[in-house]
This record gives sequence, C-alpha cells and structure tokens, in this order.
Amino acid sequence: MSVNNDLRELYQEVIFDHNRNPRNFHSMDDASHVADGHNPLCGDQLTVYAQVENGVVKQVSFVGHGCAISTASASLMTEAVKGMPLEEVESLFQDMHAMLTEAHPEARDFGKLEVLSGVREFPARVKCATLAWHTLHNAINMARETARTE
Ligand code: ZN
Repeated sequence: MSVNNDLRELYQEVIFDHNRNPRNFHSMDDASHVADGHNPLCGDQLTVYAQVENGVVKQVSFVGHGCAISTASASLMTEAVKGMPLEEVESLFQDMHAMLTEAHPEARDFGKLEVLSGVREFPARVKCATLAWHTLHNAINMARETARTE
C-alpha cells in the first residue's frame, strides 16, 4: 500500500473519530461571541460559541447537526483555536479557506487540520468543511462591529 493511501486512511480515521465524538460539543452560557452557520447545500447547521478575553480565544465550543465533514471540521477547529490570539485565528481562517479551495495553497503547517485537505477533491463538500470556520469568523467580526458602535 502506498504512503498516500496510508495517509488517506489516517485522515479518514481522524475525521470519523471527530464526527463520532466531537470535541467541545456544548453550548456556552457566558460566551462573548456567538454566531449561527448554515450550509443549505448539505443541510449542515451549527452554532459556534467563543469566550474572548484580552484578544485571546479562551474557550470555544459548538452545537448543531450536520454531515461527518462539517461536524469533524467544527470539532477540529475548536481544538485548534483554543488559546489562540484573534489575529492568529483570522490568519488561520484565511489559510484554511485557501487550503480547502485552492489547488496550490500557500505552504504552512496545519498540524491536525491537514486531515481536512482531502475535501478539496470533493467540491460539493468544501462548504461543509469551511462552515465552522466561516461561523467563527462571523462571530468574532460581528462582536467587533458591535463594539465599534458603542
Ligand atoms: Zn455537510
């Protein structure tokens, strides 16, 4: 079996695992940032909660229902951005979007998030994988807008 097939199987295993046992899968009463996301193409629906303190994502969680890719992506996202400054979250959001949609994304170490890269071969599933990221992005930016008008 080729290295590529081994990798692909490993990636699938991680996605199945995060779909079966999503991490940080709960609502958050004291969230400072909340947004809903909806992918009508597939029926994925989720709500992302974040607690931001001093420009750092202290806690992040999600609830909702959707396909394996959207759930695994949201679960992996919560693990990846916990403890991250907002600017890094924003740059990771941009890079994840490029990794999932562009044929030759900028090289970067995505760590565990690399398991989602296979989605690129299935254009119909790209929106499933990016949904949680767009939702987190909206949550953070809507709060900024609100903060600006105060
Ligand atoms: Zn989906």
